[in-house]
Amino acid sequence: MNNKNFETEAIRTQTERSLFLEHSTPLYLTSSFVFEDAEDMRASFSEEKQRNIYSRFTNPNTSEFVEKICKMEGAIAGHAFATGMSAVFSTFAALLNTGDHIVSARSVFGSTHTLFTKFFPKWNIQTSYFNVNDLDAIEDLIQPNTKILYAESPTNPAVDILDLERLGQIAKQHNIILVIDNCFATPYLQNPIDFGADLVIHSATKLIDGQGRVLGGVTVGQADLIREIYLFSRNTGPALSPFNAWVLSKSLETLAVRVDKHCENALNVAEFLEAHPKISMVKYPFLSSHPQYDIAKKQMKLGGNVVAFEIKGGIVAGRQFLDNIQLCSLSANLGDTRTIVTHPASTTHAKLTKEERLEVGVTDGLVRISVGLETIEDVINDLRQAL
Ligand SMILES: *Cc1c(COP(=O)(O)O)cnc(C)c1O
Repeated sequence: MNNKNFETEAIRTQTERSLFLEHSTPLYLTSSFVFEDAEDMRASFSEEKQRNIYSRFTNPNTSEFVEKICKMEGAIAGHAFATGMSAVFSTFAALLNTGDHIVSARSVFGSTHTLFTKFFPKWNIQTSYFNVNDLDAIEDLIQPNTKILYAESPTNPAVDILDLERLGQIAKQHNIILVIDNCFATPYLQNPIDFGADLVIHSATKLIDGQGRVLGGVTVGQADLIREIYLFSRNTGPALSPFNAWVLSKSLETLAVRVDKHCENALNVAEFLEAHPKISMVKYPFLSSHPQYDIAKKQMKLGGNVVAFEIKGGIVAGRQFLDNIQLCSLSANLGDTRTIVTHPASTTHAKLTKEERLEVGVTDGLVRISVGLETIEDVINDLRQAL
């Protein structure tokens, strides 16, 4: 945070106002913008003039959304995308050449993992993986052609914590770009740039929207890197729609109060589960039983809204628990006002072998709960009857 305080920036950053001087930023649903004359058009295209030309490049609503995220993350520049995955893909695609190498945490979002294993090898871009609890292994994986060090913290779905400061030091020492997917923490709970990240990615679909309505993504960080990412996006077209940008920009105004409440509710759920006899393990960053509790406390303001837990009885017990759920939703999303429960071993991670699942922390009875904003007694009562 550079100038004003977090909530003030989230609410008061307003880059656009039309002739009507409206208080709330209007929606600029337009695909293109007009020029005064031939000279204005020439100067705009040559980028002597910074202005909107066409909404695949920039749009007032997407620019306002990006400006807010930059302020909240302490970043100089950024670019918005249609989805979190288009932000992830465009960031790699813009910065990597054929023959380059990535070092990544083994436990990353499923589609990101698929990019590494299925698509990037087509362009001879290979990835080496380290386990999230073994950062010592990273330096041995770094090669002369390693260009990006990549991680998420907290991780999905096992809610492990990676020491961002340590990652920042390793990246700096080896002169590689550190990219952090900060989706689970949001800019409110954690600012990876403070710990040495060069770029920060968000799926805005999750807590940033926070109401399960729109898809969006954003990458922020160093200006020279963002410039490359912008040019890639401008020419390949994964632009965030103005409407979604307008929704997301509004959502940021309430991010702090929403996330505070999400975290309070999640801690309540984690404490309830920890005391329950049918539960063998609970992982929540701000429970003192979390293996990386000290690191979580160092780099996060609060513990986030996702709790992972293990039910005694493996896959059968995990699935039975889901079938018993009445109030909470069984859904693939997270970071919604509605509490969402998933069973990774039989769904998102079902295609992996049991060994591969264990490597990313997905045991058979693991349940992931994205705690919402309902009255927390009602959520806990649902979990209790389902257990
Ligand atoms: C959801 C998610 C993504 C992908 O975002 P989409 O908006 O669904 O494309 C990337 N990283 C993490 C950690 C996520 O949770």
